[in-house]
Amino acid sequence: MKPCARRPKVILVPYPAQGHVTPMLRLASILNSHGFDPVLVTPEFIHRRISPSVDPAAGAGEVITFLPIPDGSGASNSVPRDFFSIEKAMEDVMPVHLERLVNELDVADNGVALMVVDLLASFAIEVGNRCGVPTTGFWPAMLATYKLVAAIPELVREGHISDCGIPQKESEIRRNPSLTTQDLPWLIGPVNARKARFRFWTRALHRSASLRWLLVNSFSEEEDKAEIQCFRDYPTIVPIGPLTNPSPLTKNTSFWEEDATCLTWLKNQEPDSVIYVSFGSWVSPIGRDKVASLALSLESTRRPFLWVLGPSWREGLPHGFLERVRSRGRVVSWAPQVEVLRDRAVGCYLTHCGWNSTVEAVQCGRRMLCWPVAGDQFVNCKYIVEAWRVGVRMAGFGEREVEDGVRRLMEDGEMGERLAELKERMMMAKANSRKVANMAGFVEDLRRITEDDSL
Ligand code: UDP
Repeated sequence: MKPCARRPKVILVPYPAQGHVTPMLRLASILNSHGFDPVLVTPEFIHRRISPSVDPAAGAGEVITFLPIPDGSGASNSVPRDFFSIEKAMEDVMPVHLERLVNELDVADNGVALMVVDLLASFAIEVGNRCGVPTTGFWPAMLATYKLVAAIPELVREGHISDCGIPQKESEIRRNPSLTTQDLPWLIGPVNARKARFRFWTRALHRSASLRWLLVNSFSEEEDKAEIQCFRDYPTIVPIGPLTNPSPLTKNTSFWEEDATCLTWLKNQEPDSVIYVSFGSWVSPIGRDKVASLALSLESTRRPFLWVLGPSWREGLPHGFLERVRSRGRVVSWAPQVEVLRDRAVGCYLTHCGWNSTVEAVQCGRRMLCWPVAGDQFVNCKYIVEAWRVGVRMAGFGEREVEDGVRRLMEDGEMGERLAELKERMMMAKANSRKVANMAGFVEDLRRITEDDSL
């Protein structure tokens, strides 16, 4: 590697999904403010959507460079939201293009100081190693979920799961909150899909062994630092999150157009009255049959609601539903979520418990009605419901389920206080100073690397 330019270049490779690109952009912005020159590399299908969002008003040196790499999707304008086609693009198509790009940047720009790689885009760790660029991992979710994944060898050894990742029985893996083998992030779909997802995770874990650091988009959920390193001694874990401040260098980073009319609609609703319903950025992950049950359950509450539901999933709505609820319900394809959650009309959030959505709900002080669907959402839900007690879990999609959930949320007179305390812990005071200290320590280490070419 050549000696670095005055602003050392850092290449960031997120997993290509909304909930991963957004925090990676925030990290890029922080690195920029520490004097680094961030380059965000995404597949073409993401690049086409986010690159126009660069803010031309940013000052000299204050930029994030956006570079695309081919992903095999050709000119298709849609963002794949299917786990296995994204995995195929990352493993079969993107590595060679990323390698070419890293080498080009290394030659053209006086060296690449570092690559920051989302652990779910672990193909890029191997590319970094091949190019001789120091690489750090980025974990976009809770530390607790990383610790479950990092514990895979122990879980197999202790007989909790088979060596294909299938639970041998429902057993408790850790306490407070109680996490069981049912909460493992690869347990989605039929057995073959579970095994394939498990291979994805073990591959990521194996590749992560060469990482020097792992930046975690979370706070230390347990105060005890020793807990952090309970399964592995490497990489060094650096909690720097949750990264909540929008990047000042970019405008909106939404992949899809936000329907701002729902904000006007919210203004006409009573305070604390609206149920906001969203299952994140993947195609409505609850399935078509549950769309119909949820619609009926929402209808029977007789409360106002705002529901993010993609057009193709609306076919699953019961006959006449949209007409019947017209006076008190809104269905939109994509909402300006943080602004929605901030609106005082929103009384609670029926959520899939994605990590970004969870943080946004806490940030805006919204109680959560939880229906986890996939990945890390089961662990997040356990924390929301059992550890932090700022939400309740829905029992199902039966006709009374939403109303029962909303009632349980409203009956808990102390939930608002707990939300405020959690927000304080997550965003401000102690967590914040630790976050800043962690980031400063990391940047200091990074500077040493950029100055010492021999590493
Ligand atoms: N989001 C949004 N508008 C919507 C739905 C979601 O802006 O209508 C954003 C939301 O604010 C969050 C992200 O999409 O930042 C979803 O990330 P999360 O980790 O919660 O879930 P995922 O989509 O990864 O399952």
